[in-house]
Amino acid sequence: MTGNMHTMELPRLIEIGEKNLDGFGRFLCSLAGGGGYGAADAAKRPDGISLVSGSNVRRIVKKTVEGSLESAGIAYVWHKAGKNSPDSLDRVRAEIEEDGTGMVAGIGGGRSVDTAKMISFGIRKPFVSVPTAASHDGMASPFVSIKSDRPHSIVASAPLGVFVDISIIKSAPPGLLASGCGDLIANIIAVRDWQLGHRRTDEYYGRYAADLATMSAMMVIENSAEFAEKGTDARLIVEGLISAGVASCIAGSSRPCSGSEHLFSHALDAIAPGVGLHGEKCGIGSIMMAKLHGQDWRRIARALRDVGAPTTAEQVGLDADRIVKALCMAQGLRPERYTILSESEMTPRRALSLAKSTGVI
Ligand SMILES: [Zn+2]
Repeated sequence: MTGNMHTMELPRLIEIGEKNLDGFGRFLCSLAGGGGYGAADAAKRPDGISLVSGSNVRRIVKKTVEGSLESAGIAYVWHKAGKNSPDSLDRVRAEIEEDGTGMVAGIGGGRSVDTAKMISFGIRKPFVSVPTAASHDGMASPFVSIKSDRPHSIVASAPLGVFVDISIIKSAPPGLLASGCGDLIANIIAVRDWQLGHRRTDEYYGRYAADLATMSAMMVIENSAEFAEKGTDARLIVEGLISAGVASCIAGSSRPCSGSEHLFSHALDAIAPGVGLHGEKCGIGSIMMAKLHGQDWRRIARALRDVGAPTTAEQVGLDADRIVKALCMAQGLRPERYTILSESEMTPRRALSLAKSTGVI
């Protein structure tokens, strides 16, 4: 009877506030108590928490987080997130296992959240996501991106809780929020690729997850002119990124949020490591993949410009050669995931003309 079975693992508690970081301890008590939000008084506290963060973020949040945990009576141990390499993951994992705590939280932009997500999955402890930047949709998703010679994402667990203080997100460099917008806009392409894959290979397609992911992207596209005038609404973007993560949870795969534009971005991760932010590369990929799909790529480019995200290779520090190479390499990174790039072979000549015609190079 497993043929049609579909399981969804979702976050249980999500708090989005402004200057609410001093309530982190209370939030954890609600999570541990299992009695729902606000039931913290009668609830038990978590058996201590392991906190993973980078040193910059830790300096910013340390006092408030520690004050909040101490007043809630929750023991804590800090850990420094290293690179996403197997070695540093093993080190942090061994340290956390020694803590003997009941939960693991990742506090940071991307790497700390990913590190904590992966380790908590490995040692079977609940994971709490505390994003301090809105640069990509990993904050509420069950996926972790792995940097290797074949960059890709792997499935871990969905966070049990997501805790966001918008005032911290707002104080992060504006390029990070713009990158988050690029990651959201990418959902439009990802969903098209998913529909195409469903038609061609009969793979599972979930309309609810697809529509939810599309809605997050449309929020950026429909409001971009206003963002250009008054600044990007950080809260709306955070809500969109969380919804996108939840869409992945509902789909049971990264399909609604990751298609050919993500394969292009992953190819660039391998060709030019460390150049450009994830969402920036996905945004540029979205412009080109939209053209291949016959979608309105100009509208996507305009929305990216409006939010201050790059639309050309030069703006991210990439040259034409690397763009062409990435376009040709992209589908090969994950041949089983059917996308618009599976339809016909991407040759250097086609790649060059695609990148030129969309103004990327
Ligand atoms: Zn992404």
